[in-house]
Amino acid sequence: MTDAVVVGSGPNGLAAALTLARAGLRVEVFEAHERIGGGLRSEPLFDSEVLHDICAAVHPMAPVSPFMRSLDLEAHGVALLHSPAAYGHPLKGRPAALAWRDLDATCAELGEDGRRWRRLMLPLMERSADVVELMLSTQRTPPNPRAVAVLAGRLPAQVLRTGGPLRTDAARALLTGVAAHGIGRLPSPAAAAVALLLGHLAHATGWPIPRGGSQAVAAVMAAHLERLGGRIHTGVRVDSLRDLPARHFTLLDVSPRELARIAPLPSGYLRALSRYRYGPGAAKADFLVDGPIPWSDPRLSRTATIHLGGAHGTASELARAETVTARGLRSPHPYVIVVDPAAADPARAVRGRRPVWAYAHVPHGDTRDPLPVIRAALERHAPGFTDTVLAERGVTAARLAAYNANYVGGDIASGAMTLWQTLARPVPRWNPYRTPLPGTYLCSSATPPGPSVHGMCGYHAARAALREWPETARTTPARPDQRTRMLEG
Ligand SMILES: Cc1cc2nc3c(=O)[nH]c(=O)nc-3n(C[C@H](O)[C@H](O)[C@H](O)COP(=O)(O)OP(=O)(O)OC[C@H]3O[C@@H](n4cnc5c(N)ncnc54)[C@H](O)[C@@H]3O)c2cc1C
Repeated sequence: MTDAVVVGSGPNGLAAALTLARAGLRVEVFEAHERIGGGLRSEPLFDSEVLHDICAAVHPMAPVSPFMRSLDLEAHGVALLHSPAAYGHPLKGRPAALAWRDLDATCAELGEDGRRWRRLMLPLMERSADVVELMLSTQRTPPNPRAVAVLAGRLPAQVLRTGGPLRTDAARALLTGVAAHGIGRLPSPAAAAVALLLGHLAHATGWPIPRGGSQAVAAVMAAHLERLGGRIHTGVRVDSLRDLPARHFTLLDVSPRELARIAPLPSGYLRALSRYRYGPGAAKADFLVDGPIPWSDPRLSRTATIHLGGAHGTASELARAETVTARGLRSPHPYVIVVDPAAADPARAVRGRRPVWAYAHVPHGDTRDPLPVIRAALERHAPGFTDTVLAERGVTAARLAAYNANYVGGDIASGAMTLWQTLARPVPRWNPYRTPLPGTYLCSSATPPGPSVHGMCGYHAARAALREWPETARTTPARPDQRTRMLEG
């Protein structure tokens, strides 16, 4: 009999496993894919020397998430690397807007909106630890009053109007590009929260790229787990919890749909789960190119993350595209995120060849090849891009769902990011991690605090499990790891 089994080795599955192992439990992880990592896999898709991130590429949560910080990635050789600007946004026929890591440099380029940008971001930066604590919490603890105060002064304007109080096209597009990371209708409360969180982090701790690609982060987690005696089995798709070894705890890094498929749940909980809604899909493009992206505004080569959308790149076009997509319709100019990892980590370019990562927001379950629309979006702002492409592949939203059961219909957030579902993921319960099955917990991004690579869903779920299980149930003597105590402190 083992202490705990974790199904799924995404960042949340590994975070749950590690949190249990740090508390002294014996843990086994079962992963459907041949390789660990879930959204953290990187592969040499076209050229054995050039690594492409299959899912996550940029890690704004790595420097701030308490769980990610406990990994001490830098000490394990995984430096978090930054480009001079955190993100950029091209505007057709005009200079691009850039969110430099330096707030002053950003404000200086935003003309009359410079002071509004500062008024929006500076108080958030000064209260960053409080804001992050609130946003990465279980959403069940009394909210940090300092975070509430600073957000209450800013959220309503963002919810009421795309771009909030900003007036210039450049500043409004810049902020709307961040809000669109919320994947859904714009403006909306969830998108506003995403804009304020990611927006201020750009000037605080940045939007880094891990040296060696996202897989390096998963490797650090797995090595740590194995050092603590944990075991990882890959290539094992769990079709029923009955197939798993005898254990006290089961933590599931799976979508609510997969939970319903593999677990013998009571009908009331199943009904509640059936009300869980999935959001629009993402469709991915990977390119191997033979040089830097030929942006019309060359300053864009100084950022690793670029937001595109609409024919001209304006905030209102982007908001329209996101809203149309959320309604299940195809936008001719959807929101596209482009990542050029070599802009932060020059070693990702090998003998001039570099990876370019991009995805478009598309209707749920869309089967359209995203390559033409993503190529066209890039060509609009980087004429000649297509000529630099040595190899490419498109992954439809439908195929993304087949690649990873957590991305239902290509929904990479594993559940629509509405205000309700932000608070009540996956079902409205005081303990959102616990299922009605004894010792069985959901720990994927379908639980609070939601998507992105922060590991906090897994961490909170493991803590919930540890709180509810008697000390005597452990088969191995507890040997709490120092980092668990650090996180508790
Ligand atoms: C294209 C794309 C781009 C993204 N970009 C970013 C980004 O730049 N930055 C960022 O922070 N986030 C990004 N994300 C989101 C991020 O990857 C996810 O929020 C994160 O990976 C969620 O972690 P998780 O552990 O909950 O689930 P996942 O990472 O999806 O892992 C779940 C794992 O469980 C396994 N699994 C599921 N069901 C079973 C089963 N029945 N049996 C066995 N194994 C099972 C799956 O194979 C998978 O490995 C992106 C996602 C995608 C798809």
